[in-house]
Amino acid sequence: MKGYSLFLNVSYPSLKITFLGTGTSSGVPMIACGCEVCTSPNPRDKRLRSSILVESATTTIVIDTGPDFRCQMLRANVKKLDAIIYTHPHKDHVAGLDDVRAFNFFTQQPMEVYANEITQEVIIREFPYAFADTKYPGVPEINLNTIDTEPFTIGDIPVRPFLVWHMKMPVLGFRFGKFTYITDANRIDEMAKEMIKGSEVLVLNALRKEPHISHYNLSEAVALVKEMRIPQTYLTHISHQLGKHDDINAELSPGIELGYDELVIKF
Ligand SMILES: [Zn+2]
Ligand SMILES: [Zn+2]
Ligand SMILES: [Zn+2]
Repeated sequence: MKGYSLFLNVSYPSLKITFLGTGTSSGVPMIACGCEVCTSPNPRDKRLRSSILVESATTTIVIDTGPDFRCQMLRANVKKLDAIIYTHPHKDHVAGLDDVRAFNFFTQQPMEVYANEITQEVIIREFPYAFADTKYPGVPEINLNTIDTEPFTIGDIPVRPFLVWHMKMPVLGFRFGKFTYITDANRIDEMAKEMIKGSEVLVLNALRKEPHISHYNLSEAVALVKEMRIPQTYLTHISHQLGKHDDINAELSPGIELGYDELVIKF
C-alpha cells in the first residue's frame, strides 16, 4: 500500500466533475413506460445512460460512452476531449463510441481510449470497421491503451483504477485524488475498499430498492457508504423502479443523495 499512499500525496489538479448521465441501461424515462417516474415533469427524473466528465484546467476525460454519448457531449458543450476511459464492456457503457468521429475530425488525431482487455475485445468486435486494415473513409480513429489496476496519467490527471465486481464481471472503478467513481458493481473486495477509503466524494451505483443479481440496490449501497465513512456520496445508474428523485432523496441520510444529470461538483 506504500506506493498507493505516495500516489495520493501527489499534488492533485483542481477537478470539475460533470454527471453526463445517471440512468441504468434503459435510461429514464424508459421507452413506452407510463410509470410516475417516467412521466414525472421534474428534470431530475430524466436520466441518460451513466457517464461522467472529469476536467482539469488542461485535460478532459470521459468515463464510458453509452448510447447517449453524442447528446451528452452536445449538452455539456464539450469542445475538446483528450481521452475515454471504460469501466466495462456492457452496451450501455460503450455503444456511443462511434461518435468520437467528430473529435477525430477537428483534431485530426485518433481518440485515446483506455480500457482493460475484456472491454477492448468487445470494442474491437462491435466496431470492427474502426480496426480494419483498409478503413472506409470517416470511420472512428481509436488508439487503444491497455489498463488494469496500475495507476496511469492522462494529461495532468493521475488516475488510480481498481477492481469491483458486477456479478462475475470485473469492472474498473477509478479514484481521482479525493474523488472516486464506481458504477455497475454489486460486490467490492476488501482490497478495493482500501482504495476507496479516504475519498471525500464517492459516486456509487444503486439501481432500485429491490435486490438485483448484478447491481447494488439502495440499501446495499447505503450500507457500504456508511461502512466506509465516506462524507459525501452521489448514487448513480438509477432505474425508473427506484422512485422519483425528490421522494427518494427525502428518505436518505445526510451525506448520501441521488446524483442527477448535469450535476457539477468541484474540488
Ligand atoms: Zn450499466
Ligand atoms: Zn417507468
Ligand atoms: Zn454493466
